[in-house]
Amino acid sequence: ISAVLRGLQFWENRAVYVEPSGGSHYPIFIGHKLIPHFSTLLNGLRLMPKDSFLVVTDTTIAKAQSRSLGMLKHEAGDCPAFKFRAGEIFKNLNSLNQLFTFMLRRRYSRKSCLLQLSGGVVGDMAGFAAATYQRGIDFIQIPTTLLSMVDSSVGGKVAVNHPEGKNMIGAFYQPKAVVCDLDTLSTLPDTEYLAGLAEVIKYGVIYDAEFFKYLEENVQKILARDSEAMKHIVRRSCEIKAEVVGIDEKEMGLRAILNYGHTFGHAIENLHHYEFSHGIGVSLGMRVAGRLACMLGMISKEEENRQTALLDAYGFPKTVDGVNVNAAWDSMGVDKKVEKNKRVYILPTKIGEVKKVANVEEALVKEAWKAILP
Ligand code: NAD
Ligand code: MG
Repeated sequence: ISAVLRGLQFWENRAVYVEPSGGSHYPIFIGHKLIPHFSTLLNGLRLMPKDSFLVVTDTTIAKAQSRSLGMLKHEAGDCPAFKFRAGEIFKNLNSLNQLFTFMLRRRYSRKSCLLQLSGGVVGDMAGFAAATYQRGIDFIQIPTTLLSMVDSSVGGKVAVNHPEGKNMIGAFYQPKAVVCDLDTLSTLPDTEYLAGLAEVIKYGVIYDAEFFKYLEENVQKILARDSEAMKHIVRRSCEIKAEVVGIDEKEMGLRAILNYGHTFGHAIENLHHYEFSHGIGVSLGMRVAGRLACMLGMISKEEENRQTALLDAYGFPKTVDGVNVNAAWDSMGVDKKVEKNKRVYILPTKIGEVKKVANVEEALVKEAWKAILP
């Protein structure tokens, strides 16, 4: 027993805590072999609910991570698993309704708890299910993509897509815990890993010059998925997101800095009818934002080049086809999250700091887009 307690204390001391401005704080655990010790972890933190668990995942993860899925179900008292069809196109109310039917037929009560063994798509969708099933039940995120570990699992935004727009139906609803078992990343395709790295680099640019330097100095280790390097980048990214969300849970101010590179990235995704990697879009968007900031005299050419060089080092594409500056400008204007008639840009003032800028001349923005045109 004492070994178990010591183990728990170890994990508790090492967890990153998220304390949203709205209250209710929760831990993020980061490490290896966490799923095999899932029940110990949650028991010790009194997170075991009184009633039943349901694991929620998708068909691809269920195959690729069948061992993790088996262990998790076992750790949660041999509970069932619900599998969504994998893919962003199934992130909708229809899929959600299938989950609700499954839960209602099996008499899941208000005291049950969802365990998302998944990337951001299922994480967001099942999180919204947790927010609304019988007016709200507990859920725990067990992210299996780098992106979901460093971004979507933290901060409490949960949603599904609507034909009129991405993530348009959703809520702010915080999990009881986030469990990042790095072992699950062993089967993650390289393209998905790279997509997550775009968000990791984003944290360096917007918040932490030291972290940016770490990313410059450890390219090979990070690309090789070295254990210590992965632990560090996931931990530091979670800390930064937790800090930002802690100050501004509902995106009234500071949280907007997390959209760095996204305004431009979304336009690229949009022009490619969302058949384009979000992470790659963000990486390209950061290049445009860097250029615009440089043109506005907010950062030096050297600083812009430092960001560009880092993105190059990780193998992000330098240019993108199928984007014309006029279409991109129009697309940015119709982003459904944009406040009416107000175009705001998150731009760096140096490596490790960004600020909101409004009223940038159309001609300048269009010129900045040229940073990524072939
Ligand atoms: P995803 O969940 O679709 O996962 C990517 C692909 O990898 C899927 O095909 C999945 O089946 C597969 N996969 C996942 N884990 C695997 C593993 N360990 N081994 C093998 N294959 C695996 O995509 P994502 O990038 O994790 O998440 C993207 C979603 O996250 C988007 O819907 C986006 O809107 C959302 N998001 C939400 C927030 C937020 O704050 N809530 C933030 C960023 C992104
Ligand atoms: Mg993003």
